Amino acid sequence: MTGSVAIIGLGNMGGGMAANLVKNGYAVRAFDLSDEALARAEAAGCTRAASAAAAVSGAHAVVTMLPAGKHVEAVYTDEVFAAAAAGTLFLDCSTIDVATARRVSEAATAQGFDMVDAPVSGGIAAAAGGTLTFMVGGSDAAFERARPILSAMGKAVIHAGGAGTGQGAKICNNMLLGATMIATCEAFAMAQKLGLDPQTFYDISSVSSGQSWSMTSYCPLPGVGPATPADNDYQGGFAVALMLKDLKLATQAAQSVDASVPMGNAAEALYQAFASSGQGSRDFSAIIKMLG
Ligand code: NAD
Repeated sequence: MTGSVAIIGLGNMGGGMAANLVKNGYAVRAFDLSDEALARAEAAGCTRAASAAAAVSGAHAVVTMLPAGKHVEAVYTDEVFAAAAAGTLFLDCSTIDVATARRVSEAATAQGFDMVDAPVSGGIAAAAGGTLTFMVGGSDAAFERARPILSAMGKAVIHAGGAGTGQGAKICNNMLLGATMIATCEAFAMAQKLGLDPQTFYDISSVSSGQSWSMTSYCPLPGVGPATPADNDYQGGFAVALMLKDLKLATQAAQSVDASVPMGNAAEALYQAFASSGQGSRDFSAIIKMLG
């Protein structure tokens, strides 16, 4: 046994992460507001807790995987801080705004706890398969304590810097991804209008300077490049609603530090329009349907 970990938030992502902690020898105490999520965690070998405080009490570390900043701040402030034993390590793996991440981390530090913000790259399949990438913000000491726990749930664990920089890395990365996906979609759509076969354009651009991950690892056209959600009618993958959430976090953060992000702003407006047309649950590469 490698210690006792409480995990709060056992949804699409947290459920798979909890199962991987169990597989790697941790005693996992699980809490979620959803009974169904708790039953799944129990089936994966976790011990069901009656509340967040009950899960935290006696644990060496606490992992949270919650929807947004308001949930993270409420769970730590209202329950976790008071229930945790001295020396407990906190790892928030949710994607939340940088300001809340820093505020919660400062509150934890003020009470003598180590905390990292450790958002992930990789979706539900990577959470289930234990192949997430973690971008970690926090002190050197907190990072070293967090590393083995995160390694049990992922394939890469990278120290981004001080508190909040994990969230900063995550939203800058996803802002880049949103913009390159839209640029790739509009290039494919225009190439077709100019008389190019999509496969031919892929063959050319994938070995030319327009190449990107959005093109060669996640091609938005069915039947072109490797298998992607485009081959499955844009089901599964990374939902438009989640991309829009991350773009909003990115443009808010940009405003707070007076960074000029015209491409990020454009990506947010386009994903907002696509989500508002009822497409929020489709994979984010489906935005090619709106372009052209
Ligand atoms: P989800 O909605 O499936 O899961 C969130 C869980 O938190 C739910 O089960 C909910 O019941 C629980 N919850 C909410 N408030 C709670 C509280 N106060 N106490 C206990 N449990 C509570 O969301 P998800 O897809 O698992 O995403 C979790 C986080 O990971 C989000 O911040 C998201 O942006 C991020 N993320 C998601 C993906 C993805 O592909 N789904 C990829 C990368 C990052």
